[in-house]
Amino acid sequence: ELADWHHDLRAQFPMITGNPDVAYLDSAATTQKPHPVLDAVLTYLTTANANAARGTYPWANRTTARIEQARDRLRRFLHDPDPERSTVQFVSGATEGLRAVARDWLLPQLRPGDEILVPFADHNANTLPWTEAAALAGVTVRPIPYDTAHDYDHRRLTVGPRTRLIATTHVHHVYGGDMNVHRLRALAPDIPICLDAAQSFGHIPIDLSALDVDFVVFSGHKAMALPGTGAVWSRNARGPAYHPAGWVGTPNTSGIISLAAAMDWLDEADMNRIARWNQALTLRLTEGLSKMPAYEVLGCQRSLTADTLTQQRHGIVAFRHQEIASNDLGFILAAEGLLLRADAHCQAPQGEKTASVRASVHVYNTPAEIDHLLTTLAALDH
Ligand code: PMP
Repeated sequence: ELADWHHDLRAQFPMITGNPDVAYLDSAATTQKPHPVLDAVLTYLTTANANAARGTYPWANRTTARIEQARDRLRRFLHDPDPERSTVQFVSGATEGLRAVARDWLLPQLRPGDEILVPFADHNANTLPWTEAAALAGVTVRPIPYDTAHDYDHRRLTVGPRTRLIATTHVHHVYGGDMNVHRLRALAPDIPICLDAAQSFGHIPIDLSALDVDFVVFSGHKAMALPGTGAVWSRNARGPAYHPAGWVGTPNTSGIISLAAAMDWLDEADMNRIARWNQALTLRLTEGLSKMPAYEVLGCQRSLTADTLTQQRHGIVAFRHQEIASNDLGFILAAEGLLLRADAHCQAPQGEKTASVRASVHVYNTPAEIDHLLTTLAALDH
């Protein structure tokens, strides 16, 4: 049954079915798009295209309605506990969304003596906007301490009376771990938390009725929708005044429609099953790599049991060869049809070496593709 489910889903991705000779293992960079998402965009552009909130005629009004429906669709997708109070603003991606929260919501409130907490092993998109806003306001940035490369050290994390914000990632874009927002919230019950959900949205279920955060930011292109899409969900109307009246400028209408279609597709496919599928592929890869002495898996101790690994990684595994430079390894793998990323992954240097090879999967990937990667890596295991 699981095999049938997966077979049906995989068949919906033209970039995957059209390229049987390669394994696309770079979904953390961007995902492929299923037919229903592409069809929704084409149908809209060929039957209903008009600018939103502008017209007195049906196409325009329907476009406006589709965008409002997409906001509600997102609230449902995230299990928003209070949809009457929350705001959803569409942005071009996580980078723009995080910057909007930093500049338009945080910066105007910062006063000398304030501080913010920032995780410096995160993606630059989730460190630079905060440090820039802090520099403009002359306030302190405190790094969130890590105990291992993949987890915050909650015992050393303290908040003060002037802590104005905690920025965190949901799933780490190199280590693949869930950064355990619950523990952050338990330490800081009253401090706004901004969640960078770029690698969790569309990969694992996000339940805002259980996850007590104030902002959620993500990009649609990492979750089956078109590039140039994303959103900032704010717990209440205090969200960033990014599009002041809500309807200034022409929105990315077809992109927003792709995002709504992507959420329909993901829910129909079943987010829980998708998350389990990706975890199983991740585990297959980490277990295989742990038998090859030439490779170091980043952000995770080899002694961890399989169970712990399953819980800790969501579709992303970064690793290094002890002798072959990661960049070279990337080219070797590409020549074998294994498409993945090999560089520093938009992360500030952590220790001496920065680059690594990152394999990242989504629901269209297969165990056979992971095995192909493992066999290719095994041939270089010396
Ligand atoms: N945060 C994380 C954790 C990411 O992985 C990425 C994408 N690499 C971003 C933010 C930025 O997303 P985008 O480039 O789509 O704006």
